[in-house]
Amino acid sequence: MTHALEQEIGGRTSTDRFWQHDVADLLRVGPGFDLRDIDPSATLGTAGTKGEGQSELDRATQHMRELQEQLYALSWTGSRDRVLVVLQAMDAAGKGGLVNHVFGGLEPYGLELTAFKAPTAQERAHDFLWRVEPHVPAPGSIGLFDRSHYEDVLVQRVHQLAPPEEIERRYGAINDFEHRITDDGVRIVKIMLHISPDEQYRRLAARLDTPHKLWKYSPSDTSERSRWSDYMEAFQIAIDRTNTPHAPWHVVPANEKWYARVAVQRIVLMELEKLNLHWPAAEYDVSEEISRLNATRELRWP
Ligand code: ATP
Ligand code: MG
Repeated sequence: MTHALEQEIGGRTSTDRFWQHDVADLLRVGPGFDLRDIDPSATLGTAGTKGEGQSELDRATQHMRELQEQLYALSWTGSRDRVLVVLQAMDAAGKGGLVNHVFGGLEPYGLELTAFKAPTAQERAHDFLWRVEPHVPAPGSIGLFDRSHYEDVLVQRVHQLAPPEEIERRYGAINDFEHRITDDGVRIVKIMLHISPDEQYRRLAARLDTPHKLWKYSPSDTSERSRWSDYMEAFQIAIDRTNTPHAPWHVVPANEKWYARVAVQRIVLMELEKLNLHWPAAEYDVSEEISRLNATRELRWP
């Protein structure tokens, strides 16, 4: 009995009590942002425990599913609204688990997941955005980029895979691209999952120590790890140069996996809620269709 009461007391839902502050606002990058100020172990915006975080994730998944269905339904009546979630992180920061736990409970139709790997020879022969453009989610969909066009100013900057002036050009090209798709109905949510080097060490060591996790480890993980400072500098520059009002960055502390998941879910939910979603009205005469359908009621087969 107390459960129902707990759900809503004085207009405050369990979600309101789990989130004591607007987490999207807390994690959104603002003026004077310095990555070094962010504690990767923080659980900003909530005093909740891991168990409470997991319950909140499950509860809010139902809400997210409904909003996703409305988004999808509205595209059938001409809406161009869609959401693109861009995930960037160091290896083993938990992108895969997050995609699974936050988006795995959604309707697969209407979810478009793209993982960007090192570019192929064909992709390298084109501008860096060439391979990205076809994966901008269709109207009504939620798109997820597991890595993205930001690799072209992160790993490519750290390893000097492109000349400095080309890297420099890309920040502006990214802003133009993101502006253009925003004008066409895409709401962009950019997320950096932020782990500490010692947490990454623990996770990589655990992979090497567990037979069924060996496939998740790649020798390059340790090579890239050894360039940690260069990566953090590249992230800082990329965030500084591409944190725009229409496509803001959020830096999500990710040492606590449960926190990163529930925080990203909340940030995406807040974006969906800004769309004022609703069920579309029928574009046909409902009573006429009821009559037409009823006229076929006696139909039998065989
Ligand atoms: P997992 O968590 O499963 O390891 P992952 O995203 O690390 O997932 P991998 O296949 O291990 O996937 O690595 C993909 C690699 O592709 C990364 O090292 C990344 O830096 C690289 N990559 C992605 N996009 C580009 C790009 N545009 N230029 C160069 N390298 C890229
Ligand atoms: Mg990897």
